[in-house]
Amino acid sequence: MPTQDYLAALPLPALLIRATERVAGVNDEATRLLGEGLIGRHFITALRQPALLDAIEACLLRRERREAEYLTKDGDQDTTYRVSVRPVPLDEGGFGALCCFQDVTHLEQSDRIRRDFVANVSHELRTPLTAIMGFIETLKGPAANDAPARMRFLDIMDREAARMNRLVGDLLSLSRVEQEERVRPTTRVDPADLIRGTLHGLAPLAEEAGVTLASELPERAFEIAGDSDQLRQVLTNLIENAIKYSGQGSFVTVRLTAPEFRPRLRCEGVRIEVADTGPGIDPLHLPRLTERFYRVDSHRSREKGGTGLGLAIVKHIVSRHRGRMTVESTLGKGTSFSVILPVG
Ligand code: ADP
Repeated sequence: MPTQDYLAALPLPALLIRATERVAGVNDEATRLLGEGLIGRHFITALRQPALLDAIEACLLRRERREAEYLTKDGDQDTTYRVSVRPVPLDEGGFGALCCFQDVTHLEQSDRIRRDFVANVSHELRTPLTAIMGFIETLKGPAANDAPARMRFLDIMDREAARMNRLVGDLLSLSRVEQEERVRPTTRVDPADLIRGTLHGLAPLAEEAGVTLASELPERAFEIAGDSDQLRQVLTNLIENAIKYSGQGSFVTVRLTAPEFRPRLRCEGVRIEVADTGPGIDPLHLPRLTERFYRVDSHRSREKGGTGLGLAIVKHIVSRHRGRMTVESTLGKGTSFSVILPVG
C-alpha cells in the first residue's frame, strides 16, 4: 500500500520523513496542525521545534525510537502534543521516520492540577504545624515555668490543631464525594427538614457572630432524591460561610422553593437559596470560588477557620445530585448562593 494511504488511515496527525530528510507524506490531520505544502520540504523548516528535530534526526541516523514534545499556541489556547518518532521501512527501500502527534493537553493539565493540589495541601498543613512546633519549643524552654504564657500558648496550639483537623476532615470529605460522584443517590429526603435541622445546629455559631438566621419554607412537605448527609453538608457549608463572612448585625435567610419545572435541569427541581446581607464578593472572583483552596481574602478566611475547601465540596455534592449551583453577589449588599436539585 502506498505511504499516503497508510498515513490517511491513522486517526492522529502523522507525517513521514525520508532518509533524505524531506517530508514524504502527511495526512489531513497533520496538514490541519502544521499547515499546507509540507511535502518535499526539509523537516527542519517544516517542524522547527528543537526537541522534535533532535528526535527525528536520531531516528533517521540510528533507527532509534524517540518521543518528543511539540507545543502549539492558537490564540489563548496552548496545546501539548507527545510525538512518537518511529523508524519504518519505506516502499522504495530504506527507512524513514514516522511521526505521530498525540494531544496530551488534558493529561498535562490533570497532572498539573494534582501537583498544585499536593503543594497546596502541604502548605496548608505546614503553617499550623510550624506554629505548633514553635510553641512546643517555647514551652519546653523559655516558657517552662511561666504559667500564664503556658495557657496562652496551649490555647493557640489548640486552635492550630483544630485547623489541621478541619483541613483533614474536609480533604476526606472531598475525596469521598469525588469517589461517589458518578453514583446517583437513591434515598429520599425532605429538604425542609434538613434546612430546619441545619439551622438549629448552627444557631449557636450565628448567635456568637451576632447574625440573625431565618428560613422561608413552603407549607407543603415534599421529598427529593438525595443523600441526606451530603445535602446537610451543602447547607452547613453555605450557611456557615454566610455567617462567617457577613459578620455582626447581618441577616442570613435560607429559602426553599417547591418543585417546579427548572429549565436549567430540564426536569422538575427544587431550589435552595442561602442569602446574606454581608459585604458581597467582587464579580471578578465568582467564577473561581469553587476551586479548591481559592479564597477571596486568604487572611480573613484563615482567621475565620476556613479551609478553602467548603465550596469545592458543595460543587461536587451538587454535581453528584445532577443539580446546579449559582452565585449572585453585589458588593456592599450581600451574596446569594442558589442550588437547584432535581426531584429525581
Ligand atoms: P473557606 O473555607 O475559605 O470559607 P470556601 O470554599 O467555603 O472556603 O469559600 C471560598 C471563599 O469564598 C472564601 O474564602 C470567601 O472568600 C468566599 N465566600 C464564600 N462564601 C461567602 C459569603 N457568603 N460572603 C462572602 N464571601 C464568601
